[in-house]
Parts: sequence; C-alpha cells; structure tokens
Amino acid sequence: MKRKINKQLIGIAVVGILATMLLMTAVFYDLFRRQVEDDLKINAYILKNTGIFLQDHSDEISLHMENLRITWIDESGDVLYDDDVDADEMENHADRPEVEEAFADGEGKAIRTSSTLGRSTYYYAIRLEDGSVLRVAREANNMFSVFQSALPSILVITAVMVVLCIFLARFLTGKLIQPIEQMAVDMKDGTIKPVYRELVPFANTIRAQHENILKNAKMRQDFTANVSHELKTPLTAISGYAELMENGIARGPEVARFSAEIRKNASRLLSLINDIIRLSEMDNMEDAVTFEQVDLYEVACKCADTLRVNARKHDVSFALQGEPVMIRANREMVIELVNNLCDNAIRYNEKNGWVAVTVKKNGDKGVLVVEDNGIGIPKDHQDRIFERFYRVDKSRSKQTGGTGLGLAIVKHIVMLHDASLELVSDEGKGTRITVAF
Ligand code: ADP
Repeated sequence: MKRKINKQLIGIAVVGILATMLLMTAVFYDLFRRQVEDDLKINAYILKNTGIFLQDHSDEISLHMENLRITWIDESGDVLYDDDVDADEMENHADRPEVEEAFADGEGKAIRTSSTLGRSTYYYAIRLEDGSVLRVAREANNMFSVFQSALPSILVITAVMVVLCIFLARFLTGKLIQPIEQMAVDMKDGTIKPVYRELVPFANTIRAQHENILKNAKMRQDFTANVSHELKTPLTAISGYAELMENGIARGPEVARFSAEIRKNASRLLSLINDIIRLSEMDNMEDAVTFEQVDLYEVACKCADTLRVNARKHDVSFALQGEPVMIRANREMVIELVNNLCDNAIRYNEKNGWVAVTVKKNGDKGVLVVEDNGIGIPKDHQDRIFERFYRVDKSRSKQTGGTGLGLAIVKHIVMLHDASLELVSDEGKGTRITVAF
C-alpha cells in the first residue's frame, strides 16, 4: 500500500510538473509571438507614415533594416519592391494569406515555417492609401525552438521536483500509514482503536471476527472436555463390570445383569460417538451440503414406522398427519431432524401420553410440528437445551439413552437449511417444536 501511494503521488507530481512546464512554454511562446507581431506592426506603421511607398519610384528605394524584410505589392499582387530579392524575379503575391487579408481588411498577418529548423517567418501586411500593400517580415524563433531552449531548465526543475516529491511522498505516506501499523500491533493485545473514521467498519469486522474466533475456540475447548467426560463414564462402567466378571466376583444371574450393563454402556458409547461424528461432519460441511427436492411428509411417514415401535415401548401414542410438501433440503439431515425431535417427544413423555406430528404448508414454506404432552421444559432451561451436552435432567436423559447432542444436531441442521425453529413448552404440560423450511 505504501509503495502504491508513493508511486501514485510521484506519478501525479511528475505529470503535474511536466504539464505546468509545457503550459508555461506555450504561454511564454504566445507572449513572444505577440511581441514579434507588435514589433512588425510598429515597423509597418512607421514605414507607412513616412509615405515613401506612395511615391512610385520603387527603383530608387533602398531600405535596409536589420532583420527586417520589406516587400511592397501593388493592387494586382505584383511585387513592386523587395529589399532582399529583385522584385522582377518574384512571383505574384496576391495569394499570400497576409497579403490577401490586408487587401480585404486593411491588415493581415501570418507565420510560416522557415527552411531552418526551429525558425519561423512572421509576416505583417498593411494596405496603403493607394490600395497597394506593404509587407514586413522577420525571421524569429518558433514554438519548437522556444521549447528547445527551455528544455534544460525544464529537465533540471523536473528532476529537483521529482526528488522533492519522492521525499515528501515517503514522509506523507509514512505518516499516513504509521497509525494503521500501530493498529495492527495493538490488535495483537485485542485492543483495536481505529485512528481514521474510514477504518471503523474494518475495525468492527475484525473485532467481531476476533471475538468469534475466541468464542469458537472456547466452545471447542468445552466440547472436547465434555466429550472426554461423556466417554469416560460408560467406559469406566464397562471396565468395572468386566473386571468384576473377570475376577469371578459376579456369579449366576449377576453375570447376565453385568453383561447387560456392559452392553447398555457400549451402545451408549456408540450413540455418543455417532452423534459426535455427525456434529463434527456438519461443522466441516458448511458449504458442501447437497440439497434436493424432498417431500417432508414422505420423510415423516418413513420415520413414523420405527418411531411407533419406540412410542409403544414407552406407552405413548404416536400420530402423524399432514399433506405432501416439497422442500429443498438434504434428505439424510431431514430424516435425522424428524427422528431426533420425535425421539425426544417420546422419551420425555409420561405413561399414556401422546405425540402428534404434523406436516403442512405455510405460504412457500414446508412446516413440521412435533408436539407432545410430556414433562415440558422449565422456562429457565429453554434457551440452553440446544447447546451441546446440555440436559435438564441428566439422569433421565441417560436412562433413556440420550446423548445430550440431539437438539444441538437439530439446531445445526436448521442453520444449514436456513430454516427457522420455534420452541413452546410448559413444564408439566408438554412441548411443541416447529421447524419451517
Ligand atoms: P438428550 O439426548 O439428552 O435428549 P437433546 O439435545 O435431544 O439431548 O435434548 C436436550 C435436553 O432438552 C434433554 O436432555 C431434555 O432435558 C430436554 N428436552 C428435549 N426435548 C424435550 C421434550 N420434548 N420435552 C421435554 N424436554 C425435552
């Protein structure tokens, strides 16, 4: 950035200096040209006023003025006198622009390039009282030679200015960038103070990202600690029961009971690991989820078969109603979401309770409602149940085979689908969770 600003500043300076120099040369040349023209005009008037050319004895006239060429042309354009070349040898001058102009308007001027490079001939013609034209001419420098003579000073001044600009650009960009560099240093300690108003949005974004990174790191740390803890409990149980059996302490019916405990804990471990894998997969697939057209009702119907068996085990009735609704979704994830919500509605229910699943359309959205008349969720827990490993009643969750990750997975799926989720629950009365895709 520094280099870019430097380059641009120097570029602008060089262009500026060159443009000024060229303009100055043009202005200077214009002044010079006017001066030459004025001199010629004065000379012409002096000659006119002396009246020499009104008495027609051109042969005798001999005027030699330094640097000045005098030509006298009659009304038809024939040269009567020229102090440089023999008048008889000269061609008709009626078509010379300055002469033409003088015949028409009384005076005329023109500039013509000379054979010598860098020189031009300046002409001024004036009509005399008898209708003839007197023309004076002078050879002088033209624009090119004015520029040429100014070139060395232009180059020197440009060089000096460029060097000055380089130093100035360095100094100014340094001053401009220094606070930004300081900001980068400060950022390492987490304090971001934007020095320029324009940097406030930039600083805010960085601050938000910084906080997000910290929050994510903390979440990951907590999650790892929780995972280790959750895995340790069933493993300790398995290892304990196995040890009892190994040492022959368990006998007869106890062997079957301990084996059942070992199996229960092992399947708990499996569910835990499955849920953890699913969550970490979802964490990593943000952009890589494949969506297709899915009939939400059809998915719910397919899940219902297994859920009904589960509901019967818990003495809970299970009802599904609705209509086909097409949504854009990942089929596997929708199955997982329906299963998790219904599974909770069954597990956190009372004997003879009910679970009602409804699939309906709401505008262009497909809506899934899972409702139960189970134990409900206390108000002060409702905000947190979607956190990983958060449970209201830990022992009930574990007893029913919960991992504490079901709703975290649901929330993640809802997020990946840009869907919305609503929870309404009353302790002791029941829970209703609505997902709109
Ligand atoms: P778990 O595996 O423990 O069921 P979840 O993430 O699925 O974990 O749910 C988190 C907690 O939310 C549960 O432990 C339970 O306390 C509460 N919960 C979830 N669904 C319901 C429900 N339908 N009724 C009552 N409580 C529920």
